[in-house]
Amino acid sequence: CGIIGVLGNHEAAPILVESLRRLEYRGYDSAGIATLNDGRLDRRRAVGKLVNLADLLVHQPLAGKSGIGHTRWATHGAPTEMNAHPHKAGPVAVVHNGIIENYRDLRAELSEAGIGHETDTDTETVALLAHHMMTQGLSPEAAARATIARLEGAYALCFLFDGHPDLLIAARKGSPLAVGHGEGEMFVGSDAIALASMTDRITYLEEGDIAVVTRQGLAVTDAEGQAVTRAVKTIEIDN
Ligand code: GLU
Repeated sequence: CGIIGVLGNHEAAPILVESLRRLEYRGYDSAGIATLNDGRLDRRRAVGKLVNLADLLVHQPLAGKSGIGHTRWATHGAPTEMNAHPHKAGPVAVVHNGIIENYRDLRAELSEAGIGHETDTDTETVALLAHHMMTQGLSPEAAARATIARLEGAYALCFLFDGHPDLLIAARKGSPLAVGHGEGEMFVGSDAIALASMTDRITYLEEGDIAVVTRQGLAVTDAEGQAVTRAVKTIEIDN
């Protein structure tokens, strides 16, 4: 129900949890984060309140300056740790708000290619498909684009890839998504409130946009795949 992404110069885990706290008002039943530590993807997820995730992180910390996080309002699959986001397949981790309407068809296709699923969610299918495309030689960006092109339904998505600590790919269709600009840091969030403790410089993505985010900035393509410039707005939010 809320998503966050960080390409930072500081430890990402506390920033991710703090940003998820700012998204609590949307409601949620579970939460999770994934980071890249020395380029390696790792994640922690917990059912219930964010304090449960925060407690887990005390006992099993996650290092790393790049990461994604999620508060989940389950639509497909019970609110369990297994079904909590981020979802992962091979080097791909993804967080998602919304519903992938055609996930059963995509699952069936993947199953024919010998790829099974482990969770009850629609979202895992997105990770599985992107991983499958990468095994066929696509780069993370190309795999994410090809995956997004196959999705029907409503989504805000943020991808993080093992071995790629300076890359987030964010996509918006039917669910709002914002990109935050820091000093040599970049952020992705469901709304500007989520990003308010990091930055007040925000780019709102439009319907059908895909954003390739690095610490240097972002490159956006629109629903037709054309490169576009989206304005950076300075917003006022009470901390
Ligand atoms: N449909 C996804 C799920 O049930 C995402 C739900 C959400 O927006 O939090 O896991």
